[in-house]
Amino acid sequence: MAKPRKKQPLRTVDIRCAGCRAPLYKYRKGGKGALVKCFVERIAADFTTEPCTCPGCGQVFARATLIRGTPAYKIIGGKVGVK
Ligand SMILES: [Zn+2]
Repeated sequence: MAKPRKKQPLRTVDIRCAGCRAPLYKYRKGGKGALVKCFVERIAADFTTEPCTCPGCGQVFARATLIRGTPAYKIIGGKVGVK
């Protein structure tokens, strides 16, 4: 029996460190364009050991913030790559 299409409006992207290519998050990204912020609740998998810090090279790639009352990470420009 064919499964009905799941409602999945957001695609999951892999976020990697721009410096050492270590995986940081799997993230359910909405919309198009560059990643400037991550809502914590949309992070599908978290590979970091310290918040906003690359587990590979120790670089801080984002800052914790609140966007309209929702916890989010503001990405520091050029520190991460999205695939
Ligand atoms: Zn790194």
